[in-house]
Amino acid sequence: MQSYQENFFQNYSLIFDRSNYPNFKKSNRGYIPEDDAPCVCLSGKIFANCCKDGIEDAIKIRKIKPEEAKRNIENQYNKQTKNLLSFKTEKKSIDKKNISYCSAQEVFGGCDSKQRIRYSHTLSKGSTLDRLSNGGRLVRFNDHALIKNINLSNINDYFEDVADNRASVTVSFCKKHDEELFFHIEKDGNNAFKNDIIQNLEYSLKAITFDIYYKIMNIKYLSNLIKHNKYVANNPDGSLSSFFEDYNLFVSGLFKLYPLMKKLLVDLKKKNNNSQLITQVFKLPVDRINFSLSEVIEINGIPCFINVVNNQNPFIIISYFPQNGKHIDYLKNIKMDFDHSGLICWRTSFYALWPLTKLLLNNSINIYFNKTEFDKLPDEVKFFLVRIHREGTKNISSHELYYFGIIINDFLYNISEQIC
Ligand SMILES: [Zn+2]
Ligand SMILES: [Zn+2]
Repeated sequence: MQSYQENFFQNYSLIFDRSNYPNFKKSNRGYIPEDDAPCVCLSGKIFANCCKDGIEDAIKIRKIKPEEAKRNIENQYNKQTKNLLSFKTEKKSIDKKNISYCSAQEVFGGCDSKQRIRYSHTLSKGSTLDRLSNGGRLVRFNDHALIKNINLSNINDYFEDVADNRASVTVSFCKKHDEELFFHIEKDGNNAFKNDIIQNLEYSLKAITFDIYYKIMNIKYLSNLIKHNKYVANNPDGSLSSFFEDYNLFVSGLFKLYPLMKKLLVDLKKKNNNSQLITQVFKLPVDRINFSLSEVIEINGIPCFINVVNNQNPFIIISYFPQNGKHIDYLKNIKMDFDHSGLICWRTSFYALWPLTKLLLNNSINIYFNKTEFDKLPDEVKFFLVRIHREGTKNISSHELYYFGIIINDFLYNISEQIC
């Protein structure tokens, strides 16, 4: 028989019901779970009757026997990537479909008769991945590796190779809806980007589908982690770690995106030409670029659905629902810079994009690189790429940023030596 938790992550109605997740309150010690809400391990019991005592005991043990607690934590995190719980959770979620649902179930209904949920690509296979991989393999960040151990000799541990048919996969649509909902961007003959509202809605749905699936996967991971190791909720001195705060962020993030996913689905169902969705498009003046992504990133507090596609021309497509009718000035300004500098020289238009490019590198999880071009990068550049991805640019000197920034920009946008 399936456990409550196993069943939970294959059931749309349970997954998208906020009352099935823990509530957190801010105390003077940090975020802590509320006693009478569902337990953090998602056993189906309330916190006070489940993991609460074990977590409090672990805090006491950490204060009395810090060495024992330290060993326990190290055994949890210091492993080869493939042995890490986070990696195993991700692999099983997808390969074994341990997290699977159809995102269209509530708004569209009438899912595939057998309710078969299929693997779908959050980056379109035909229009994006094939052109990105050039028929070969792709590279992505390995976000499981611990950043504190990073150095030039192990830099390749922070990336992983992926076959293009395995890239950006989630299990979040039934076959019928996967075909129907992405018809205007994926069906053969439809995949040229025209910047019409239906295509923009479909691309936005791709991005949000990935982000929601990823948040659910992280909640599942954290619920497993606390079940296996009660020490993770606190620091060596017995104070609370960021565990509950992270957990709270994933749950609140999931329920911030959920209404937006429904809004996109409703607009697609109505084929709504009056959708409020705003889209800012950057048509890139090269034949092909060396990265693609599909991701939700907040800009000025507004979730933006971002796709970088290798269509017949490459595009950066950024859509969002404006809040209180307000547009995002940041995007308008970058677009203005981009268009303006492009008039002088196509090459400098990419440097106008650099603030946006940094934002993408820093926040993207569902991002893939062309392997052939990636392999040509020196280790110092790969090192820099991981640092921007993990930490942003605040700890990087302006001199380094300038030097490596240009190399990375040229790599990402496939800019060759030629001069304007
Ligand atoms: Zn529990
Ligand atoms: Zn369906």
